[in-house]
Amino acid sequence: MTTPDRNDADPARLASGVVAGDRRALARAITLVESTRPDHRHDAAALLDALLGRTGRATRIGISGAPGVGKSTFIEAFGLRLLEQGHRVAVLAVDPSSARSGGSILGDKTRMGALSQHAGAYVRPSPSGGALGGVARRTREAMLVCEAAGFDTVLVETVGIGQSETEVDDMVDTFVLLVGPGAGDELQGIKRGVTELADVVVVTKADGPLAPVARQTAADYHGALRLLGGHGGGWTAEVVICSALTGDGIDDVWHAIARHREMLHSTGMLQTLRSSQARAWLWREVEDTLVAQLHDDPRVAAIVPDVERRVTAGEISAASGALELLGAHRGDVQAEP
Ligand code: GDP
Repeated sequence: MTTPDRNDADPARLASGVVAGDRRALARAITLVESTRPDHRHDAAALLDALLGRTGRATRIGISGAPGVGKSTFIEAFGLRLLEQGHRVAVLAVDPSSARSGGSILGDKTRMGALSQHAGAYVRPSPSGGALGGVARRTREAMLVCEAAGFDTVLVETVGIGQSETEVDDMVDTFVLLVGPGAGDELQGIKRGVTELADVVVVTKADGPLAPVARQTAADYHGALRLLGGHGGGWTAEVVICSALTGDGIDDVWHAIARHREMLHSTGMLQTLRSSQARAWLWREVEDTLVAQLHDDPRVAAIVPDVERRVTAGEISAASGALELLGAHRGDVQAEP
């Protein structure tokens, strides 16, 4: 029997299975693109090439917010609403905690129970391990696979701590920032960078005693975002209030996203955005692959401890240490006696 993590399917057959809507093929294809094994990269690239003509048609939405802000509750309510309207929804995650520690802030798919059991939805738990860039790459490729499988809306979830947001912003059309009532201090510090990326800010948990606080928070964000200025195309981030528990305002979030998408279409910015994202991915892919090859090169590995020691002891600069490693990779460093 073939298990999803053996990844031994022929890429062309796997691609046909994905396009035909076979859930097992979808899971296996995503496992393949997430694999860090060098020999799997070729199969993954062949798979993605085979799927390419069927990608790019989904509404790609990034959803970010600090842990506990209500992301999974929101995504479940939002996703179920989209399913009611006939959409097919895939949920993917970029989780920087899993890149560092193997653990996950975002948890697994049991969080979105109703959504993950729905036939029209696919919820992928966050891939673990590897560098953040690697996790983001795998999520981006999983997104392409989901599009080829016919999901018209892809939600990419991430924790609002900075670095992963830029990666996610580089793969989606609309970036949604979730904030809680009274979270005005999120406008400070590193979170400010995240706020600047937002096309839509959603103040969630606007129910019960928190409702008036949420309205005030929305007003604060509205003012702050106006000061930050537009994003291009005349778009200034919209602020929407909702409750994932009662469902109030969930449709307003979708409408704000739809208005942003309409602006991207009507101004031709969607095309420009997708092109510049594709170019950025190309170079990130080249960089990731080169660094991986460098690490895998035994000639490099043989001198890494010594070069690292001399750099950390201050005997040589990081710049000349890097040149030594690159030289070893090119094969132009003679072994010392
Ligand atoms: P995440 O860590 O961002 O995914 O946050 P969760 O979705 O796990 O939610 C964190 C907590 O906030 C949970 O206890 C939820 O029940 C609660 N919560 C989420 N959305 C709402 C909401 O709309 N209203 C209220 N009152 N609580 C909510």
